[in-house]
Amino acid sequence: MSQQHGPVCRLCRRAGQKLFLKGQRCYGPKCAMERKSYPPGHRGQGSRRYRVSDYSKQLREKQKLRHIYGVSEEQFRRYVRDAENMPGISGNNLLQLLERRLDNVIYRAGLASSRAQARQMVNHRHFAVDGQVVNIPSYLVKVGNRIEARNGSKNLQPIEEALASTSGESLSWLQVDREERVVDILGLPERDEIRLDVDEQLVMEFYSR
Ligand code: SF4
Repeated sequence: MSQQHGPVCRLCRRAGQKLFLKGQRCYGPKCAMERKSYPPGHRGQGSRRYRVSDYSKQLREKQKLRHIYGVSEEQFRRYVRDAENMPGISGNNLLQLLERRLDNVIYRAGLASSRAQARQMVNHRHFAVDGQVVNIPSYLVKVGNRIEARNGSKNLQPIEEALASTSGESLSWLQVDREERVVDILGLPERDEIRLDVDEQLVMEFYSR
């Protein structure tokens, strides 16, 4: 279930950057960041004069990352804990876990125009993993998995529109058959392929306080 409540464009304005939460709208003149890029609230336009503490920076990065993937605070804490328990750099581990979410993979593959839309389609049982219907957006895909829109769902309007609006990201870890609406997981994403303007190290520092 989506964890974004209220007007999501406020989240971008609060973060001070586009988080791309509303699909095609984010790329056009209707994007709220094109019109009002200062943070929401009564101190909005003047608040950037205030010194930003380390805590505020960490909090902001954490909130940005959480909102981008649309996960609850509780779920996000679980990802952080799992990332810390994995070998390697915990910040990278965190991003990899988030990227492996089924809703994110569908979005990255270009079969949805936003993660929220991908989440809704998964909830409505339009996708299968290795032939089994999965309706859990947080399902973590593994190398070798095949994700596929189900027969009868392949020509859903949101999928058609998403495919028509983008040529899709070319990512080494995903092999996408746009005609068949099939995605094969070839590997795990490296940091430089996760194109996010987020400092994941600050996020880990936030939770180690
Ligand atoms: Fe953010 Fe998209 Fe809204 Fe622009 S349109 S403010 S990028 S959610």
